[in-house]
Amino acid sequence: MSASEFELIQRHFSELGSRRDDVLLGVGDDAALLQPTPGEVLALCVDTLVGGVHFPQDAPADSVGHKALAVNLSDLAAMGARPAWATLSLTVPTADEDWIAAFARGFGDLARYHGIALVGGDLTRGPLSVSVQAAGFVPRGRALTRRGARPGDAVCVSGTLGDAALGLCLWRDGRADLDEDSRWLVDRLHRPVPRVSLGLALRDCATSAVDISDGLAQDLGHVLQASGVGAQLDVDRLPLSTALVQYAAREDHLTQAMGGGDDYELCFTVPRSCLHKLDAIASRVGVQITRIGTIQPDGGLELVHADRSPARLGKAGYTHFDAS
Ligand code: ADP
Ligand code: MG
Repeated sequence: MSASEFELIQRHFSELGSRRDDVLLGVGDDAALLQPTPGEVLALCVDTLVGGVHFPQDAPADSVGHKALAVNLSDLAAMGARPAWATLSLTVPTADEDWIAAFARGFGDLARYHGIALVGGDLTRGPLSVSVQAAGFVPRGRALTRRGARPGDAVCVSGTLGDAALGLCLWRDGRADLDEDSRWLVDRLHRPVPRVSLGLALRDCATSAVDISDGLAQDLGHVLQASGVGAQLDVDRLPLSTALVQYAAREDHLTQAMGGGDDYELCFTVPRSCLHKLDAIASRVGVQITRIGTIQPDGGLELVHADRSPARLGKAGYTHFDAS
C-alpha cells in the first residue's frame, strides 16, 4: 500500500462509525480483534456492489457509502440480528479524495445511527466496487431464517414495493428531479432504509423472514422453497406508495411491485395467533406492515385478486411463480 493510500485510510476510515467496547483493536493493524458477546450467535454477511452494475456510476458518493452498508444491514435485519461490526473493501479508479470523503460520510452516518464500528478493510485501485461485510448478534435459537414458514401463516411485507426499481428508471431517464415524488423514488434507490428494528421486533413472532433485494416474487420464492411450502398472495393488497402510483402506468403496478428489486423491505411470515401483535410493532418501529397473503401447503406462488380471480403479471401474463 502506498503512503497516500495509508493517509486516505487514516483520514477517512479510521474511527468511522461508533466506538464499541467489544472492539479491542480496530483499523490500523493486520487484523481487528473483536470480543463476541457470550451466549449469542454471530450473524455474518457480505455484499459487493459494482459500479455500473449494482449502482449507477454517477450515483452520489455519499449514497454509495450509505447503500453499501445498508444492503448488509438489511440482510442482518432479515435474520433478526443486532448489527455490531463491519469491514469495508473499497476499489476506486482514482484517489479522488472528495469522492472518498463523501462516500465515508454516507457510510459513517448510517454506521453511527445503528451503533456499528468499522473495524477494518482494504483500499485498492481498479474499477469502482464496494464490498462490505457486516456482523451482528442474535441470541442462540432466536434467529429468523427462510426455513420456518408454515401453512396457514400470514405473509406480510414492510413499507411499500417497487419504489427503488421505478427510481432507477427515473434516474436513468434524467427525470430524478421533477418533483417531490420523483426525488423520493430515487432516494428509495440510492438510500434504502434497512429495517433493523423491525427485524429485532420480529424475533418474537415471525416464523421466517427474507429481505427484498431482488423483488418480492423471487425473494419470497426463496422462503417458499426453503420452507417447502407455497403461498397465495392477494395482489390488490400489495402496498404501493403514492409516488409509485403517480409515476408508474396502472398496468405496470403489479409487475413493479412483484419484480422490482432494491427495496430492502422485509417479507416475513407470522402465525395467525401472532397477527394481533403486528399493529403495535409497526407503530413502535415506525414502519408500515401489510398482510398480503397466506402460506399454503404447496403450489409455488399463486397470485389472485381480492375476489380470488387469477391475477396477471404485466406483459408476460403468467400467474404462477415456480418456487423452485
Ligand atoms: P494489510 O496490508 O496488512 O492488509 P492495509 O495496509 O491494507 O493492511 O490496511 C491497513 C489497516 O487499515 C488495516 O487495519 C485495514 O483493516 C485498514 N483498512 C484498509 N482499508 C480500509 C478501509 N477502506 N476501511 C477501513 N479500514 C481499512
Ligand atoms: Mg490490506
